[in-house]
Amino acid sequence: MRLTPFSTLSLLSVAVGISLATTAQAAQPPAPDLSNSEFQQCLDNLKNSSKFSGVDSYTFNNYRPSQPDPSVIQSLNYQPEFQKDVWDYLSALVDKERVEDGIRAKRQWGSTLRQIESRYGVKAEHVLGVWGVESNFGQTLGKKPLFESLATLSCFDRRQSYFQGEYANALKIVQNGDIAPNDMTGSWAGAFGQTQFMPSTFLELAVDFDGDGRRDLVNSVPDALASTANFLDNRGYRTGEPWGYEVKLPDGFWAASNRKDKKSISHWRDQGLTLANGSPLPYELSSAGLLLPAGMEGPAFLVGKNFDTFYSYNASENYALAIAHLSDLITREDSSKTDFITAWPTDDPGISRQQAKDIQQALLNAGYDIGGVDGIIGDNTRTAIQQYQTSRGIFPADGRAGQKFYRAIVGNAAPSQTQYGQPANSKPLNPTSADRMGQLIQQQTTAPSSYSSQPSVSSSNSGNTRYRRVTDADGTIKLVRIDQGS
Ligand code: CA
Repeated sequence: MRLTPFSTLSLLSVAVGISLATTAQAAQPPAPDLSNSEFQQCLDNLKNSSKFSGVDSYTFNNYRPSQPDPSVIQSLNYQPEFQKDVWDYLSALVDKERVEDGIRAKRQWGSTLRQIESRYGVKAEHVLGVWGVESNFGQTLGKKPLFESLATLSCFDRRQSYFQGEYANALKIVQNGDIAPNDMTGSWAGAFGQTQFMPSTFLELAVDFDGDGRRDLVNSVPDALASTANFLDNRGYRTGEPWGYEVKLPDGFWAASNRKDKKSISHWRDQGLTLANGSPLPYELSSAGLLLPAGMEGPAFLVGKNFDTFYSYNASENYALAIAHLSDLITREDSSKTDFITAWPTDDPGISRQQAKDIQQALLNAGYDIGGVDGIIGDNTRTAIQQYQTSRGIFPADGRAGQKFYRAIVGNAAPSQTQYGQPANSKPLNPTSADRMGQLIQQQTTAPSSYSSQPSVSSSNSGNTRYRRVTDADGTIKLVRIDQGS
């Protein structure tokens, strides 16, 4: 499945203890050889276990996988090959394109968001921030069959007990009639729908907001948005409070990053902190902790309880900061500048999604088989970058796609007009044949347009709009509006 690192692990990083910020795509251990007879025996045992007592045998049998899926065990044991700096993480998640998609979504779903805000007390832009980071506003849902994934994880390797509970819950969701069986696809670990809820979270917190009697987090945007608000409310969201704000530390100030050590705003004023633009700290937060994602030299933040509710969605401070920052930019309706006021402590900042695509195209042109151009710098791309750097004597050969590498490989020329030869000193691990490369490039140019370039949406669309899921040629799942009436 085309999974962005963040949606892969939605709500699961707490459960299986995976650090989100260091997760990337691809480069996995070899697929294990799983015994199907062992698998079927395990399913027989599960069927009669107490965990599955709420699942009727028709449901269990009807969606019983005929074989395990070894790829999910690969994903479970995946160790990222490359570490990701916070500025790369943020620039990939909060870029011009996503802010613009968010501003469009705010207009399209305005009336629904206002109703949600009045029922749950959660600010519309905070809901949009979660939606944008979790599933790119419903465009990236994950396409692994959930029953196969969860059944496999229930029977092999570590965390079986946890996944058995989620497998039983996933079956109950279908048994209840909330989600159509064919829509039960998601991340390798079982997070699904536009909110990327795990099945247990679904059963606890999903709501039917469009009133059709089903909690459909796959096809109903109102259900997905209201369920997100319900989740944040349930985790202690404070109505009317901002998540926090970027601040400026006074000269000579020293502190460790500790979001949980909450103090009053008066305390922070006394310490000499101001807003990043120099204005006095407003008294909008009942208490706030200091967050320093890159240490004392980078952007600094005071964060309140609502930041913690974002954190509870995925147990990563960088993830929560992405939601927070995206929600601010959507509030301001300004996509022109996605940086914080204080620069990250690096002379080689992160790249935008378009720049990532340009780099990938240049690597393809140079003969590196990175699969395709998706704007996501996963391990395949990073391995190719490292090989390219090594072959050209670029130091450090760290596989990182930053502004310096962008200038080195793309320069100022449009990538499609630039010809790159084979690397001088080493061959790519998987050089593409001319035919294969031609096909790849052909695919790039003929792939269906993305959701963001669909006809723009109007604010008259109310909460009743329905979507159908379409799988693109490159495997991404997106939602396409089904026009009502006529
Ligand atoms: Ca519904």
